[in-house]
Amino acid sequence: MPDPRSPRPGDASRSITSLQNDSVKFIRALEMRKARRETGLFVAEGASVLLTARERGWVPKTLVLGPEAEANAASRGLATWARTARAEILDVAAPVLAKIAAKENPQSVIGVFEQRWADAPDPARCATVALWLALEDVRDPGNLGTIIRTADAAGAAGIVLVGQTCDPYSREAVRASMGSIFAVPLVRLEDQAFLALAGGWPGDVVGTHLNGKLDYRRASYRPPTLLVMGSEGSGLSDAAAAACGKLVRIPMAGQLDSLNLAVATALMLYEIQRPDLEL
Ligand code: SAM
Repeated sequence: MPDPRSPRPGDASRSITSLQNDSVKFIRALEMRKARRETGLFVAEGASVLLTARERGWVPKTLVLGPEAEANAASRGLATWARTARAEILDVAAPVLAKIAAKENPQSVIGVFEQRWADAPDPARCATVALWLALEDVRDPGNLGTIIRTADAAGAAGIVLVGQTCDPYSREAVRASMGSIFAVPLVRLEDQAFLALAGGWPGDVVGTHLNGKLDYRRASYRPPTLLVMGSEGSGLSDAAAAACGKLVRIPMAGQLDSLNLAVATALMLYEIQRPDLEL
């Protein structure tokens, strides 16, 4: 089987009508986490998302173009970008695109990219950085993508994914990130490595907790701030909470147990960044 990830100089464009095509099957397999883990690849969909990838200096391994792509100036520009990067270009028929694209709001241009994982932030070099975000055991890819998008908007330096987290490179997370997956550095850390990072952090390590005694609007956030959010189900673990110098709470008027994780994260990011964010 030819490796569909390999660029093919001189064979930049192929039209595909068969669902049994190896490249099509390969891209469809990337819906499975196991395939993403083994290949280190992921799929991103839609011209505006891929334009963000281009702006951020990413290049696709493969670009899939549906029948409507040729009529779209942005898609044609993306095809030129991919060709220049010697990526594989796949022109596919509508039934094939329907199998590769998302079921909801399918797009006519799709890219396959290599995942990127950043090194853990070096506390000695964080002095000029205002804010890092840590997420413990986040489970919902829609939440994770929304948080990546919000962290990008709020100007966080990056996100540390702690413990058993869902995959930020899943389709759902990538889609919810609206292109910010290409902008926000992502770090993976085991629990113990995260506790060590928090222990040596030069600024405030701030946990969010339903038992927090401090109103998040009255807390001070000494930069570089490390904001730590708990998981959707069980919240912040005792070990992570103990690693935080302060635990803050967001007041709630209703009878709810808690806010949605992505909403709570957005409130926290914007509160911490308030002095630095201007229209
Ligand atoms: N049952 C969980 C618990 O006991 O923590 C609820 C988890 S909540 C859905 C997910 C995360 O969002 C929490 O771990 C916390 O980081 C944040 N969060 C949600 N509502 C919050 C609030 N009112 N104050 C502080 N943090 C909150």
